[in-house]
Amino acid sequence: MNPLPETVGAVVVGAGMSGLAAADRLQAQGVDCIVLEARDRVGGRVHSEPLWGTWVDHGGQWLGPGQDRAYAVVQRLGLTTMPTHVEGRKTLLFGGRLTHHTGRTPALPPAALADVAQAQWRFDRLAATVDLRHPWRTPDARRLDSQTFETWLGRTARTSAGRDFFRVATQAVFATEPSNLSLLHVLFYARSGTTLEVLLSTENGAQQDRVIGGMQQVAEGLAAGLAGRVFLSSPVTGIRQRDDGVSVLVGDRVVQASSAIVTVPPAVAGSISFDPPLPSQRAQLLQRMPHGSVVKFHASYARPFWREQGLSGEVAGDLPPVKVVFDNSPPGADPGILVGFFEGEDAVVASRHPRAVRQEVVRARLQRFFGPAAADMTGYTDTDWSAEIHTRGCYGAHLPPGAWTQFGSALRVAVGRVHWAGSETAERWCGYIDGAISSGERAADEVLARVPR
Ligand SMILES: Cc1cc2nc3c(=O)[nH]c(=O)nc-3n(C[C@H](O)[C@H](O)[C@H](O)COP(=O)(O)OP(=O)(O)OC[C@H]3O[C@@H](n4cnc5c(N)ncnc54)[C@H](O)[C@@H]3O)c2cc1C
Repeated sequence: MNPLPETVGAVVVGAGMSGLAAADRLQAQGVDCIVLEARDRVGGRVHSEPLWGTWVDHGGQWLGPGQDRAYAVVQRLGLTTMPTHVEGRKTLLFGGRLTHHTGRTPALPPAALADVAQAQWRFDRLAATVDLRHPWRTPDARRLDSQTFETWLGRTARTSAGRDFFRVATQAVFATEPSNLSLLHVLFYARSGTTLEVLLSTENGAQQDRVIGGMQQVAEGLAAGLAGRVFLSSPVTGIRQRDDGVSVLVGDRVVQASSAIVTVPPAVAGSISFDPPLPSQRAQLLQRMPHGSVVKFHASYARPFWREQGLSGEVAGDLPPVKVVFDNSPPGADPGILVGFFEGEDAVVASRHPRAVRQEVVRARLQRFFGPAAADMTGYTDTDWSAEIHTRGCYGAHLPPGAWTQFGSALRVAVGRVHWAGSETAERWCGYIDGAISSGERAADEVLARVPR
């Protein structure tokens, strides 16, 4: 690898999707910039691995309608997407009953279905009032931000099945429990990704498409375009600001730049010391952006046997610890692959156990969903994202009550010459790959407005 340059126009901290998108835009505009990445690979929360003669995505993998920035980059890099396999009946394990259905309406008892529909209608109506750019200016923001999503659910959903449905949906989207989330944050997040239904859906939803060969190719493609300007295994430890520039510290090495873009996830932002210290509003916001907990697993089979039973492989359920599963087989379905998640509290418990124990838990659950053939796994792998020291939990950060209205205005405001990007700072598709890309582009535009060229 090239030695670190002593002086550049801009330094981008983090080679995830947001950092690479920022550097891509800066370079295209003629700014001499480098990317400093703590890991020995690019992609951050996007990580693909060649496995079982195909690939698995341990991190972010799906794209869906409306994620225009992400599709544009995929297309520009000459990559191809494939739809998630949806043919066949979906599986639902709710209240101890295993049922199958097609279409979007789950086979819940009529009273529960009616309850979910009325609660969702109320939720969508409230979400439509959210000010995406300034959630703290949403009408009635203080009231919405002073309660948890669980409190709202307890008041709004009238049946226990209805409440459980939203609890599972919350785990699937946020990887945490409704009691940890501000109602305003849940409303913001749903509107940021269009609607809660879109976030939960496969066809016409956020789980619609995958990049053939793995999502990390997008990060690698962007990094390749930055030839020699991405420095791996280079964790930034400090950023010093002066009136005329910044000094970015990588241990005892220093890079001088006109500006910096910091993209590290909120949970690990404390690994960088700032001089002068961050303003209190920004520092206290970071204290209120915990990450969710998720263990993502893949199980491989000689063939996708569930398809022979007329099943799509898509599962939702309320029985801990595995509540969501999809068919993640490659084109040609050789091998058959199921992807699933331990999320929220289920992931907190799962991460206390070794992978071999988790594998047996998954084997037993998949047998419950798909019958005895699910016992014949040919391979198993998983990633506990809470254990990843440069991420410390996923899918991303969430805001508890009070955070948006008291500290939210500091989310995107540059501190001197330090600009902020990262999926969590996106207005549209906050928490998603598309949001990461657009946040990087937005921060690059901020830098372009001041960097001498
Ligand atoms: C299991 C899982 C499934 C997901 N599924 C989807 C999905 O299907 N679709 C979707 O759109 N999104 C999904 N997401 C979310 C998506 O992956 C993220 O929103 C997105 O990748 C975040 O990109 P980012 O650049 O903002 O942050 P990151 O990817 O976290 O990038 C930040 C980078 O900073 C680096 N870093 C940290 N500290 C330092 C330091 N001190 N110095 C230098 N570098 C540092 C990190 O190593 C990392 O590379 C998923 C995430 C996970 C984990």
